[in-house]
Amino acid sequence: MKDVMAMLQLKCPETGEPVDIRDVAPRIALLRRYSAALWVKWIPCPHCGDTHRWSSGHWVSALEALADSPDATRVLVEGESATALP
Ligand SMILES: [Zn+2]
Repeated sequence: MKDVMAMLQLKCPETGEPVDIRDVAPRIALLRRYSAALWVKWIPCPHCGDTHRWSSGHWVSALEALADSPDATRVLVEGESATALP
């Protein structure tokens, strides 16, 4: 496994463009120890000027996708599903 960071991204529902959330190391995903605390953040979108919801559920989905594909360079979250991309 490469020791690279993967960018977690939220897909803008208005434009379909990815919005960067944060970098995460794949080894963090592989720990599979996710907090059970629930939270929501509102991410300002550079594409449509609105804010989009980013929650603990999205975070867990993204980490699970990354754990399954630790060589991914980004994980795109759309709705409730997350896709690891090369
Ligand atoms: Zn947007």
